[in-house]
Amino acid sequence: MIEHMQDKIQIIPIPAFTDNYIWLIHNGQSAIVVDPGDALPVLNTLKALNLDLKAILITHHHQDHIGGVGTLLEKNPHISIYGSAQEHYSFQHIAVSDCDQITVADWLNVISVIGIPGHTLGHVAFYLVQDKAHHLFCGDTLFGAGCGRLFEGTPAQMLTSLKKLASLPGNTMIFCAHEYTLHNINFALTIEPNNQALIQRRQDTALLISKLKPSLPSTIDLERATNPFLRYKTDEIKTVLQLKNAGDLEVFTKIRLMRNSY
Ligand code: ZN
Ligand code: FE
Repeated sequence: MIEHMQDKIQIIPIPAFTDNYIWLIHNGQSAIVVDPGDALPVLNTLKALNLDLKAILITHHHQDHIGGVGTLLEKNPHISIYGSAQEHYSFQHIAVSDCDQITVADWLNVISVIGIPGHTLGHVAFYLVQDKAHHLFCGDTLFGAGCGRLFEGTPAQMLTSLKKLASLPGNTMIFCAHEYTLHNINFALTIEPNNQALIQRRQDTALLISKLKPSLPSTIDLERATNPFLRYKTDEIKTVLQLKNAGDLEVFTKIRLMRNSY
């Protein structure tokens, strides 16, 4: 009997630079990487696991997310590269926009592109439902207990983008591009010191980091419970910020401003 079996996917972080993660999705033979800022650690991982690189997904144009593309393309000329239609890249790529559905590999379900401007104006996330699990690759927009800096967009754009991501199913796994979680939690505790979920998360994260393990993936549920950039409606935060009667955007903007100098 011939059956078309879809292999279970695996997702692993490839550490790069000081705190980047290049996420690698594979089925035991073929691989896709997200935001390869550096080629060498990716090439080493592909070799160690005996994987063929099939495609590259890019969330935004910063060098620590695209720096490895040139070398990877040189060594694997047939791969497809997906990047935002609103950003400029020096290499050939398939331009994607909000709400696009892309077929990246025959062993992967369709991936949804979500436009999330703020950190950069063309920033996109990639959302994949596979093996009954939900996966979000969100680059530098949503971090563990934090969010990206506003290099190009406005606070209002970032707030809208984060609301989009926060509305995904609670069990969606969040694959961020940096290991900033512990520092973000420490900041979050300064404006929401009595949040029990946050206090617990600090313990859990500190333990992982002490064992040199990634704090990611996170989940949307955990972010809703602990991430100050999704918790601008919380009484404790509004009280600490002395913004009791302020609207969402004002509170969000103030949190982002405070985090900039933390
Ligand atoms: Zn960035
Ligand atoms: Fe980055």
